Order: sequence, then structure tokens, then C-alpha cells
Amino acid sequence: MSTITALHHVTCIAGDAQENYDFYTGVLGMRMVKRSVNQDVPGTYHLFYADADGHAGTDLTFFPWPEMAPASPGVGLASEVGLAVPVGSLGWWHERLTTAGVKVEAPVRRFAEDVMTFVDPHGLRVALVETSDAREFTPWGDSPVPAERQVRGLHSMRLVERDIETTGRFLTNILGFSEAGSEDGWHRFLLPGATSGRILDIRAEPGQPRGKWGTGGVHHLAWRVPDDDTELAVRERIEAAHRRPTPVIDRFWFKSVYFLEPGGVLFELATDGPGFAIDEPADTLGEHLVLPPWLEPRRAEIEAALPPLRAPRVLASA
Ligand code: ZN
Repeated sequence: MSTITALHHVTCIAGDAQENYDFYTGVLGMRMVKRSVNQDVPGTYHLFYADADGHAGTDLTFFPWPEMAPASPGVGLASEVGLAVPVGSLGWWHERLTTAGVKVEAPVRRFAEDVMTFVDPHGLRVALVETSDAREFTPWGDSPVPAERQVRGLHSMRLVERDIETTGRFLTNILGFSEAGSEDGWHRFLLPGATSGRILDIRAEPGQPRGKWGTGGVHHLAWRVPDDDTELAVRERIEAAHRRPTPVIDRFWFKSVYFLEPGGVLFELATDGPGFAIDEPADTLGEHLVLPPWLEPRRAEIEAALPPLRAPRVLASA
């Protein structure tokens, strides 16, 4: 079945934009590869952090909405973002995050991998997972984190659902996942192939209320499709499963389709290309506000409404 291959990007809700920028570039050492606006709410930034080249699958993005209430955990929401780090680097990361004032949990084993979790400055739960899986990754030369320690990209996501079966059937029948066992109440679903970012872990918490979007929460998960034809084929299957996908929306750096999976989590399909270097030079990605062409005539008004972003505060490497 021609289907999704892996996570493409994950989009979360942050508080203050500058604090978000400081943390993801200055502490986690990721590169801001696109400074843009929410295309549906252009008074809000959309900030993209990734590897040096902005490869699909490396990309964690944020809508800073400081006026929003914190996310309320519950069913139908993602509860944690998993980022890949090189094997043997968790001790180094523990020290760096602690120096930055972040409270870090002691490392644990999950599905035979070493994992360390922390909460970002606005409440987002992040897991650093040691892995040597093959991935498309270009280290960022200007990162405060040395290349051999840098975040490699998206590894996995955790979702909380009312039950496993409804979402599980959709994942396996429509999206091409297979079941890969369970541990501590978490059921693992895996996409076929050898690409990184193929893991979705789901836990059933039937007694919980519906979770709500807010700062520190995950807004949506986007899944990679290699090309337009695959995107349309997957979209057709989603429609046949009565999940009411949107039409294909041109996000300029990729083409997107949005839909709710049966448990209520917002999913997106996103094409691998054309990528972030389509509308600005690759060596200055993220340094200037980029607007999609249809918003360019409103640039002055949009820029005036956005809070200014200073150069990030950087934690030097130990
Ligand atoms: Zn998206």
C-alpha cells in the first residue's frame, strides 16, 4: 500500500515567542529554518526548528500563543514529543539542560531504548531518545551544541486515547502501521521501512476527559508522503473511512491535508518537498520573516502586529 513513511513535522503551542526561540535554538541547539506566520491566523508567528537543512522529519514547529491557557491533558491529544539524540549522549544532555534550569527526569528504558524526559519552558513534555537509526540529518555549524550531540530530529510521539482499538484499526487499515507490542500500558505502532520517526505510542485512559489545546500542548502531527500522488491516494482512503480530510492545501514548503483520526488527534499529511529553501537562501534560513505569496501584500501590517524577535540567548557548550 502506498502510504505515509514517517513523521514529517510536529506542531505545538508555545507561550512567549522569544522564550521559545531562546530555548529551541539557544539550549536545544536546533536551527530555526523558517520564521513565518500561521497562515490561517497571520498575527501569530509560526516558528520552525530543525536540522541545518530543514529535512522532513527533523522539524518541530510552534505557534506562540502566550495569551492562551495551558493545555489540559486528556484523551484525543498527543502528550509527548520524542526527539532522537545520538547513543551515549543523555548524560551530556542531562548536564546541559540542568545548567539551563530545566528539571530533567532520570533516564528510563522504553522499548529497549534509553529515554530522558523534561518539560520545556511552556509546559511541553519532550523525551530525548538515544537511537542510532538511519536518518537524513545535516548538523548545524552555528549550533551551540556540538555536531556529535545534536538533536537528530523526530523519533516518536505519544498519544492518549479513550481506547486503543478504534485508533489502532485506523492506523493499521488506513495508514499502514503495524502493531509492535506494548509496555507499561503503552501500545506501540510502527510504520514499515527503515526511515526514522516511524513510532507512535498510544495509551488508553478511558476515564479521562477530552484533552484541550493550550500552551505546552501538541497542536498536530504531520506524516510524510513522498509525492503528490501518494498524498492523494492516502487522502482517498481517509475519505473512504469517513474521516473527512481537507482538500490539499499548498503550504508552499509542502502540500498538506488535515484530518482528525478517530480518537480525536489532529493529523496532517505533508509532502517531503519542495522544502524550506524554496523561498529563501539555504544559508540564511530563518533569519527573516517569510510570508507565503498570498500574504506578501499585507507584510507591513503583519510585521507590525508580531512581537519583535531578538537574536536568541545562547547557552555556551560545556
Ligand atoms: Zn503542520
